[in-house]
Amino acid sequence: MSRLDASFRFHNKCEKQKIINLCFADDLFLFAKGEVHSARCIMESLTKFTKMSGLVPSIQKSTAFFCNVPTFVKSVILELMTFVEGSPCGLSGLSRISSRVEVFGSVVFQLIVVRAGERFYSLDRVLDSISGLELATGGPLLLVSDVWADGGWRWPLAWRDSFPVLIHASSIIINNYTTDRFLWKDGDILSHYSLALAWESIRSREPEIQWVSIVWFTHCIPKHAFLLWLIMRRKLLTQDKIIQWDFERRKNMNMTCCPLCYSDYDSHQHLFFECPFSMQVWYGVRGKAGMSNVDPKISAIVEWLLLRSKSKSAGCLISKLVVAASTYVIWQERNDRLFKNQTRPPDIICNEILQTVRYKLLGVKFKDTASVRRLLDDWDIRGDDGRDNGD
Ligand SMILES: [Zn+2]
Repeated sequence: MSRLDASFRFHNKCEKQKIINLCFADDLFLFAKGEVHSARCIMESLTKFTKMSGLVPSIQKSTAFFCNVPTFVKSVILELMTFVEGSPCGLSGLSRISSRVEVFGSVVFQLIVVRAGERFYSLDRVLDSISGLELATGGPLLLVSDVWADGGWRWPLAWRDSFPVLIHASSIIINNYTTDRFLWKDGDILSHYSLALAWESIRSREPEIQWVSIVWFTHCIPKHAFLLWLIMRRKLLTQDKIIQWDFERRKNMNMTCCPLCYSDYDSHQHLFFECPFSMQVWYGVRGKAGMSNVDPKISAIVEWLLLRSKSKSAGCLISKLVVAASTYVIWQERNDRLFKNQTRPPDIICNEILQTVRYKLLGVKFKDTASVRRLLDDWDIRGDDGRDNGD
């Protein structure tokens, strides 16, 4: 930086060692004398770095620290840098400017175009040695042919100046008969490139939750699964949530009570299935789900299903389909009453749940075993419907 601009002045405690920057983990500290020329030089260097690498300093996460810098100088510097001013650092008589540069995942994960077989990988190693510089200059991806000609490297001038190590890059043998390949590099692991692999590298992954297979499973009905997922996360907009924002509603029981029974507050716990109406629905369908002994409580139902979450049996599939369909149709009935003033009795709701699950089962191919036959008979699915001699 000082080489690029003679107007740059070192921080006076850094002058002897000619220190401009220090890195701690993913933090970058830049030091300079508290004057406008040096600040401008830093910003120009950061801009140049952005153009070369495609990495952009995060303005929101960058902070400028000042000590004993006259107010008018400070205001000009802050206008130039647009960083937030940090608390005074206590280094009396000195000024310090710190900028944290966000390094994006693109440094860690690289899409590599392999040409001339594995030799191209050595080029990637060279680039690794210069702090993850990418084969891009803020514009389109560079190809080997852009930097290799007549049996030698043809590095962009700016690269040669900034990264002398490139002079020692070993030469490669281009084999014109080898087909170009795309590889994906994640850390030290190099694999054939696929979108799935790239997604796996860049996505954030949380530990798998215990109840995932209760909600999402093969043959689930997507709209039912989505609603059950919201219920599991207590994300439905029930009245008990709304009154937390709207205190006026608390005074009016008509606005907060369950539209299915009018005897309690509308909440997740109440609707599934402690409400007398929902309870009646649950009693009407649980036998068909093989859950005759399971209480009308979402916690008890989830607990029962969790014990069987690894099972791939037809019975378990039916249980999960019935639970999801029950929550969906009850929530639908609750909304119809609240917003459309339409009501249906519990037996009609039960019938809709069972019919929906039955139609779903008609499209599933089960193993043809005696127990499956019994189950499907119970659902009035006969003949060759829903049975498969295969697996
Ligand atoms: Zn109710």
